[in-house]
Amino acid sequence: MKVLLVGGGGREHALALAIAKSPRLTKLWCAPGNAGIAEVAELVPVKAEDISGLLRFAVEHAVDLVVVGPEGPLVAGLVDRLAEKGIAAFGPTEAAAQLEGSKGFMKDFAARHGIPTAAYGRFTNAAAARDFAATRPLPVVIKADGLAAGKGVVIATTRDEANRAIDAAMLDRAFGNAGAELVIEDFLDGEEISFFALSDGTRVVPFGAAQDHKRVFDGDKGPNTGGMGAYSPAPIWTPAMEEQTMRTIVEPTIAGMAKEGAPFRGVLFVGLMLTDNGPELIEFNVRFGDPECQVLFARYDGDALALLDDCARGKLNPFAGGMRDVAALCVVMAAENYPGDPRTGTEIRGLDRASNIVGASVLHAGTKRDGTRILSAGGRVLGVLGVGATVKDAQRIAYQAVDAIDWPEGFCRRDIGWRAL
Ligand code: AMP
Repeated sequence: MKVLLVGGGGREHALALAIAKSPRLTKLWCAPGNAGIAEVAELVPVKAEDISGLLRFAVEHAVDLVVVGPEGPLVAGLVDRLAEKGIAAFGPTEAAAQLEGSKGFMKDFAARHGIPTAAYGRFTNAAAARDFAATRPLPVVIKADGLAAGKGVVIATTRDEANRAIDAAMLDRAFGNAGAELVIEDFLDGEEISFFALSDGTRVVPFGAAQDHKRVFDGDKGPNTGGMGAYSPAPIWTPAMEEQTMRTIVEPTIAGMAKEGAPFRGVLFVGLMLTDNGPELIEFNVRFGDPECQVLFARYDGDALALLDDCARGKLNPFAGGMRDVAALCVVMAAENYPGDPRTGTEIRGLDRASNIVGASVLHAGTKRDGTRILSAGGRVLGVLGVGATVKDAQRIAYQAVDAIDWPEGFCRRDIGWRAL
């Protein structure tokens, strides 16, 4: 099979390594990729947002399967455009991607199908939004409807803060058009977890749970980021929780989307709050998380390309998705000043030394090659992965590898996995 992978982060490096192991693979391209992905795939200088460029490449090279990493091209309809040309893709159509692309759509969908989630209202008018927020218990959660790169959510602890968040999104357009509409919802109390399920439109199988660390500094302090680390399995996650989540959230979602004429194919990333009333839905994403993808595929046992291809073609094996009974933990190394404007172009050394540690591997995110040198080229730059018998072992291995990397201009959190340990 000839495969085009779309994206260029740590998530896509993990996907590229998993796909490259498949005996079905004859050729792997990645657009745009990074310096690590270049070791297993041919890089294509087309951006993940360039729908027509990706389409042209896939047609010209008779690609058999397109695997889409990030949400942007999914919400923009890449999978639909490929289908028109008869090209299969792993990832949902534009209509099904609305589960992530519009929080209001997701909430109305959950309400229609009796899926447990926080009580909410949808608003296109700031005055009405303020009036509603004033009637809800504090803290109250204010969310931009559209994609806002994880920045469109404010948990307001005072009325004043809620009003300011509403005005910032709706009147000042702090998140552009993503904030033209708001969802205002009640606060859910509990521990957060990410659960993954793969679907071919009708069948759905579990694909493991992970926990991540969104804040930039140790002790979960500082501003939110794309994710500073993750681990799987999450010791708090039990088979009973998984069964309940499949039954009350995942299966009704797959069945509901099919019934409404927008069958969901791809990976459903279920953001959950483990409340006193059981798991409740915070949000859906329609792609793998980054860095959750790295730890999931470190544990996955089977032929990843076969798995993704079966989802894309409606042929998912109901027993697919098995994970090895090991733990994986990923520490993200970021460039100085991230999540602000990161310092790029600094040299990273010691990558081979780190990868040679038993159980460790280094995934690239924002890197580029300059001759024999590897340079930083983004905010999140490396994902250092440890695999061991327990989360504690995986953590020890990952930090041994971090310490083998010589990159004075980079930093990472030193406490990834603390919740599990
Ligand atoms: P979202 O983009 O909807 O996942 O929101 C981003 C983050 O805000 C989540 O990962 C949660 O930590 C938090 N959050 C969102 N909605 C709620 C809620 N209703 N109750 C508590 N925390 C929330």
